[in-house]
Amino acid sequence: MNLVFIGKQGVGKGTYAQRLALDFEIPQISTGDLLREEIKSGSELGKKVQAIMNSGSLVPDEIVIEIFEKRIQQGGTEKGFILDGFPRTENQAESLDALMQKLGKKIDLALNFTAPDKVLLSRLTGRRQCRQCGAIYHLRNLKPKVEGVCDKCGGSLYQREDDKEEAIRKRWAAYEKQTKPVLAFYGKQKKIIEVDASKEIGEIYPSIIKTLGNKKII
Ligand code: AMP
Repeated sequence: MNLVFIGKQGVGKGTYAQRLALDFEIPQISTGDLLREEIKSGSELGKKVQAIMNSGSLVPDEIVIEIFEKRIQQGGTEKGFILDGFPRTENQAESLDALMQKLGKKIDLALNFTAPDKVLLSRLTGRRQCRQCGAIYHLRNLKPKVEGVCDKCGGSLYQREDDKEEAIRKRWAAYEKQTKPVLAFYGKQKKIIEVDASKEIGEIYPSIIKTLGNKKII
C-alpha cells in the first residue's frame, strides 16, 4: 500500500495518514516532519530551511528530495507507506516516480483531500502539534486527554509558526501554483481518488478505508 496524500494545508490529511499508518502498521512519511526534525537537530541544512518554512514558502525541491531519499533508505517501508505532504511539485512527483522505479516499487493511489477555505482556516488556527513526536491535535476536534500534553509521549503541544493566518494564506497560494500540477500528474496515471474532507472526521476515515478496499489496496 504505497499512497500519496494530497491536499491544502488544514484539510486533515496528516490526521488520516497518522491513523491509517497506525492501523496498517506502515510508516507515515511527512516531509514537513522530516524538515522540522532537521531544524531540531541544529544542522546547517536545518538553519537554512527554518526561515523558508516559517514564511510559508516551499523548501527547494532538491533539499526535500534528498531528505525523502534518506528516509526511504532507512527502511521499514516493505509493507507500504503513506506520503504526507510529498510530492508537492511536479518536479518532486517525477523524482518520486524515478526513485520508485529504481526500488522496484510504485505509487498505488493519490488521495486528493478537499474542503472549502472557510472550514480549513478554522481548523488550522486550532491545530497543535507535539514538540517531541510530531503527533497532531486540535483545540476543538481532536483534543488531547490533558490540555497541552501529548497523549502518546507526554511532550508539550504548540502552535506552529506556519499555522498562523498570514503564513496559511501564503502556503495556499504556493499550493495553488505548485501542487495543482501534481494532481494533473497523477490524474494522467489515473491514480487520483477524491476525498470530501469537509465532512466530520468520524465519517471520512471509514470512507477512505472503503475506497481502499474497493480498489483492492487493502
Ligand atoms: P507541512 O507540515 O506538510 O504543512 O509542511 C510545512 C512546511 O514544510 C511547508 O510549508 C514547506 O515550507 C515545507 N515542506 C514540507 N514538505 C514539502 C515539500 N514536499 N516540498 C517543499 N516544501 C515542503
